[in-house]
Amino acid sequence: MKKRILWTGVLVSAIALIVFSFISAELYYKSSLRYTEDDLQMYMDRFDSSLTVDELTPERAAAFSEELFGARVTFLNENGDLICDTVDDEEESRADRPEVREAMREGEGFDTRISSTMRIDYSYYCRQFQGGAYYVRIAISTQSLLDVYLSSFPVVFTFLLLDLAVCVLMTYLFTSFILKPVEKLAMDAARRKRIKADCPELETLAALMNRMNDDAELQMKQIADEKELVVKAQQSKNDFIANITHEMNTPLTSIKGFAELLAAGVLTGDAARRAAQTVLQQSERLTNLVASIINYNEIDSDDLPTYEVNASKIAEELLETLAPAISERNITLYKHIEPDVLLESRQERVTEIFGNLIRNAIRYNREGGSLTVALSKTEFSVADTGIGIAKENLERIFDRFFTVDKSHSGKGGGFGLGLSVVKKLCRKAGWWISVESEVGKGSKFTVTFTR
Ligand code: ADP
Repeated sequence: MKKRILWTGVLVSAIALIVFSFISAELYYKSSLRYTEDDLQMYMDRFDSSLTVDELTPERAAAFSEELFGARVTFLNENGDLICDTVDDEEESRADRPEVREAMREGEGFDTRISSTMRIDYSYYCRQFQGGAYYVRIAISTQSLLDVYLSSFPVVFTFLLLDLAVCVLMTYLFTSFILKPVEKLAMDAARRKRIKADCPELETLAALMNRMNDDAELQMKQIADEKELVVKAQQSKNDFIANITHEMNTPLTSIKGFAELLAAGVLTGDAARRAAQTVLQQSERLTNLVASIINYNEIDSDDLPTYEVNASKIAEELLETLAPAISERNITLYKHIEPDVLLESRQERVTEIFGNLIRNAIRYNREGGSLTVALSKTEFSVADTGIGIAKENLERIFDRFFTVDKSHSGKGGGFGLGLSVVKKLCRKAGWWISVESEVGKGSKFTVTFTR
């Protein structure tokens, strides 16, 4: 930037300087010609005009030349032919010379040119004498325009150097002064600071830079967020696999241990029968686990169409099916099921949500407790008077494989997939699930249908 300004300054001022020097040289040349003409007229006035043609001898010419400090003197006859010349005695006629022609016409004539005979720049002045009987011409060598140009060259060159120095200095001062706010702007932008323009001309630029900085920041945040999501997804996948492996390990170890004992023939009679029963139970457990995992995973890819489902009917049927389990634990059931509540979903999805919540309310209830199931057009709720859930676990119960009491995992309870399936299905339908609970008093799960 600085270099550009410097070279532009140097170029512009150098061109201006050269043009100016040409114009000055020309003006000087023209005015010097006027002075020369005046001088030559004064010189001519000293010529003795009473002389006749016959008296115009080379000696007289030489004497007159000497009187005029060596000026060239030419005597010409009435036709402009040479009588004599103090410098050049070429016989040719001088009648065609501009100053002679003018003198023949007007009485006197002036011209400046390179002498065709002497090859020097001369200023000529010719005057008519005695009514055209003869002509006297005097000439002095003068500087040509080129000479003037050439003689001014050292001065011009010195000024050019000076101009360069001044340009360097001015460019340095001006650019520092002008570019300082721009540099400050760029520095602030690089440091991601909020940019404030010091002068109104830079306000648009500052606003633009601020916007670009904001955009960049937003993009960086988005990239960071996306990265975090990828990391989270990977972590969640790893956790899922670790959980599955863990859940599978327990029944497999048990199956393997008892199968080995049976194969070795160590167990006999009742012991062998119990061992075989354990192997059977654990195999069922494994089958259930695999089915639960498949069920859990299928929710995401399940794009089956929805339709109107009679939720009241599903709730009633579920309670009927679970009646033995309810009475087995002496639980009192309170039903508030509005008839014909229609939901936009699928039969199996509603059954899964209602079933999981009711089964949990039975499973985690206390002996002789109560269970309240309510369904309206806006919500479905299940309340129990069971063990309740501690505050710190309330948020985690919807996580995959989360069970409050690990020792019961997979025994009376499930694998900790039930509530995560419920949450997934609710989210898919656009429903909202919430829980309120108090340890030792009971829990209430509510699904709100309104979006
Ligand atoms: P599980 O198959 O173990 O029941 P869920 O996902 O259904 O898995 O439940 C996760 C955990 O939340 C359970 O292990 C249990 O500790 C707790 N929980 C769920 N429902 C209730 C409830 N009604 N009362 C007390 N605790 C519950």
